[in-house]
Amino acid sequence: MAVTGTDIEAFRKEVRDFLSGNLPEDVARRTRQRVHPAKDDLKEWNRILDDKGWAAPHWPIEWGGTGWSPLEQFVFEEECARADAPFLSYFGLRLVGPLVYNFGTQAQKDRYLADMRRGSVLWCQGFSEPTAGSDLASVRTTAVKDGDHWVINGQKTWTTEAHFADKMFCLARTNPDLRPQKGGLSIFLFDMDQPGVTVRPIITIDGGHTVNEVFIDNVRCSDEDILGQLGQGWDQAKFLLNNERVANAHVPQSKRALELIREMAEDETFGAPALHRSDIQDKLIDLEIDLMGLEWQVLRDLSGAEMDNRAAAASGMKKIGSAIQQRLSDLAVEIAGPRAMIAFPSDLDRENEVPGESPAILEGVGARQLFRRAATIYAGTTEIQNEIIAKQVFGL
Ligand SMILES: Cc1cc2nc3c(=O)[nH]c(=O)nc-3n(C[C@H](O)[C@H](O)[C@H](O)COP(=O)(O)OP(=O)(O)OC[C@H]3O[C@@H](n4cnc5c(N)ncnc54)[C@H](O)[C@@H]3O)c2cc1C
Repeated sequence: MAVTGTDIEAFRKEVRDFLSGNLPEDVARRTRQRVHPAKDDLKEWNRILDDKGWAAPHWPIEWGGTGWSPLEQFVFEEECARADAPFLSYFGLRLVGPLVYNFGTQAQKDRYLADMRRGSVLWCQGFSEPTAGSDLASVRTTAVKDGDHWVINGQKTWTTEAHFADKMFCLARTNPDLRPQKGGLSIFLFDMDQPGVTVRPIITIDGGHTVNEVFIDNVRCSDEDILGQLGQGWDQAKFLLNNERVANAHVPQSKRALELIREMAEDETFGAPALHRSDIQDKLIDLEIDLMGLEWQVLRDLSGAEMDNRAAAASGMKKIGSAIQQRLSDLAVEIAGPRAMIAFPSDLDRENEVPGESPAILEGVGARQLFRRAATIYAGTTEIQNEIIAKQVFGL
């Protein structure tokens, strides 16, 4: 049945009412303030949504999805961002979840999906290595068969949330004689709290801790820990990277950021509102137009519309979405001026250090701008997206 404008507005109201009655105020405040989510907030909100049956709207109904249309899913995400709800575990729900229900064995679906949906088991993505980022096929982590077991050795880096994840999905070479793209790679699913897994923090320029180095020394896995079939790693990684690029357009989150920036531009706490300046008005309008264009493209993709080249479109969305996130955070700092540095908190518990006279909308502005430098790197750099577009659309 087609979703009408009236239906969608009724749906939006239902979501909004639920959020206003169920999203804890302190969780929303911390989400607005922090650049990196707190584990407890993620888990608490995930549990509340799962109780309602809304934790994984995009999953198949059989595994706890809601059966909503793509437009309803988008509206849900938009309302969550608007209410400052935490962005739920990206690595479980968005990345490895779809891998498990598309490629996993029945036993893996039964074993992992329910806990992942509830957020009681959190995941991290072990793909990148010190010498393999853009060129993922060159991963050096090896998995070698030893009797009934696989022995895994290697180093992962930039592993987001590895310090609080319960499990990793880890890309490794399982056959050095085959090309990585032709059966040489597999993905292993393993526990983080076992001997041989060492996590070391990487503190980013915003002062926050979200990424890590992970050292893997003689970690033992069984055949059942290989996601799907042996040697499917490259196809699985490509499937995941396409999903990741669309999700990284972050349109609902950018719309919320724009709303907060507009509020900040109207603020009179420290004198004439920035919105009186024509250069600020121009930047706000340019951002709004570009964001609207991106939103249309994302909605087209979600609706399953015919597209000549979906992979190139996903790259375009990631590239434009990440540039918009950076421009938004730059504009926020331009408006806040030196006050962006006063209200600096990143993921640390520094709420009480925010000076009393700073308006709440300034919270995290400086730290966010610094961390957003990474938006054009993670989930595939802008240069790599340009290459994909050049090859697939222009045949270069
Ligand atoms: C904050 C953050 C979080 C991350 N989280 C995760 C995570 O959870 N799990 C995970 O597995 N990875 C994660 N990553 C890693 C991320 O995917 C890689 O950093 C990214 O793919 C780039 O790889 P690299 O860092 O090795 O850079 P390189 O690939 O070495 O690239 C260096 C520079 O060279 C350019 N370049 C490389 N190849 C080409 C080419 N062929 N043509 C033109 N230019 C090129 C790049 O664009 C870049 O500017 C994260 C990264 C960051 C910064």
